[in-house]
Amino acid sequence: SVTKTAFAGDGKAFEGHKFPELKYAFNALEPYIDAQTMEIHYTRHHKAYYTNFMTAAEGTEMLKTPMEQIFANMSKHSATVRNNGGGFYNHNLFWENLSLVKQEIPTGLKAAIEKDLGSFDAFKEAFTKAAMTRFGSGWAWLSVDKNGKLFVSSTANQDNPLMDVVEAQGTPILGLDVWEHAYYLKYQNKRADYVTGFWSIIDWNVVEARYKAALAK
Ligand code: MN
Repeated sequence: SVTKTAFAGDGKAFEGHKFPELKYAFNALEPYIDAQTMEIHYTRHHKAYYTNFMTAAEGTEMLKTPMEQIFANMSKHSATVRNNGGGFYNHNLFWENLSLVKQEIPTGLKAAIEKDLGSFDAFKEAFTKAAMTRFGSGWAWLSVDKNGKLFVSSTANQDNPLMDVVEAQGTPILGLDVWEHAYYLKYQNKRADYVTGFWSIIDWNVVEARYKAALAK
């Protein structure tokens, strides 16, 4: 069994951009995410975003700057930094919000979702719609806005809600990768089946911890 304790934004001092260890086996999320997809996704796609970002950051202040701060000034950076920095960060968050066992959503987070988004079912519907209607490549998100309110959104490519270039800005606490590389080997064109499976592997405790950290900012 795996106990995950650290997550992005857990308050630890920034020690440079590190490619994260995957805290479970490639086959740990089967049948929802197959081992081959997981291995290629982590060792090739995610690693490439990280490597390309680090190459772009070499010799700049970015090496000493947390991703959240870089994203807050995204409009001042190149497309290379935006795409690869986003890809690096988004996958860090994604791996952390996946659970090997089906979890119940903690009551505090559930109550916040009900208050801000109407009901848990309404949230699920909005998130699924965000994932399904993202044309081409991108992400679906649950985030906290600057007033502490939860909202659902979708971003293109490797953008995320922390970036000053996206429409709906806030702190992401749950993300779903809807690039074809995340599901095509197992699901082919059936993105809906991949999105449905996602609800069985969400680490709600990580999502709630991120929610509390976002409110405390
Ligand atoms: Mn991906």
